Amino acid sequence: MTQPFSIAIHGGAGTIVREQMSETLKTEILSALETSVRAGYKILEQGGDALDAVTAAVLILEDSPHFNAGKGSVFTHQEIVEMDASVMHGAHKQAGAIAGVRHIKNPVCLARDVLRNSQHVFLIGEGAEAFAFEQGYSFTEQDYFYTDRRYEQLQTMKEKGAFALSESKFPDDRKYGTVGAVALDQAGNLAAATSTGGITNKKYGRVGDSALIGAGTYAENGNVAVSTTGMGEYFIRQTVAGDVAARMRYLKQDLQTACDTVINGELKAMGGEGGLIAVDGAGQIHFAMNSSGMYRASIDAQGEVSIKIYADE
Ligand code: ASP
Repeated sequence: MTQPFSIAIHGGAGTIVREQMSETLKTEILSALETSVRAGYKILEQGGDALDAVTAAVLILEDSPHFNAGKGSVFTHQEIVEMDASVMHGAHKQAGAIAGVRHIKNPVCLARDVLRNSQHVFLIGEGAEAFAFEQGYSFTEQDYFYTDRRYEQLQTMKEKGAFALSESKFPDDRKYGTVGAVALDQAGNLAAATSTGGITNKKYGRVGDSALIGAGTYAENGNVAVSTTGMGEYFIRQTVAGDVAARMRYLKQDLQTACDTVINGELKAMGGEGGLIAVDGAGQIHFAMNSSGMYRASIDAQGEVSIKIYADE
């Protein structure tokens, strides 16, 4: 019997207004989600490693302007892009993470290379970029990351002196557009990856949960792989991804109970909005959110494809 394998991805959770979503935008988003989940699944199908699958899936979302990662990253207060990413492989709990990079087209690849090719787990800013260039990465100008939409969002936020939009011009403005993927491969390895531009109008070198192993990303073979999205400050304080893993490891909670308890219980009670994707050691997938939507897709252990936006779907 072949071993089960499966993959799930997300393109961010938050307030997504159905009435404002144009058919064109919806089609483009659904198509990017499908391309991403299929790219990761193909690697798993061919017997590839879960870490390669999640990296490939996230890379596609980083290259799309529709998500807050890579190309579509939000702007900082200084009107530049600073990106965070992390990956974890569940076999030996190896991890790689980077924060505050400004000139790397695909931060998820750099996080994977920190895991594979460095003796460290977490590199930041100029040091992370120096490592990238040593690894052969090319320098990507900030201009590449510029989008009118993100620039307008920043101006609105600056006027309000805020970090989260309360009024929106775009149907998913009030969404944390971070991207992520989790997968189980045929060798039983679990892996997770998360990548983000962070939050609009961030200052002072702010880093969110997406770069942090145990908060935004976690993977442990035989247990669970998790990637989160939402207001990072809450996810860090609640160590969301690690808490899901700990509940399953110590309390023997099933995947759904562990994820929902954290997202709809403790995190929500604290005021944290967002969601997560998770896959367990048997390839079972679960999406949890306490917001009105989360861009998400999966291909389960039976090969069934699912692509969704709203919480009530
Ligand atoms: N979690 C990310 C952060 O706080 C934001 C997001 O999910 O879009 O940096």
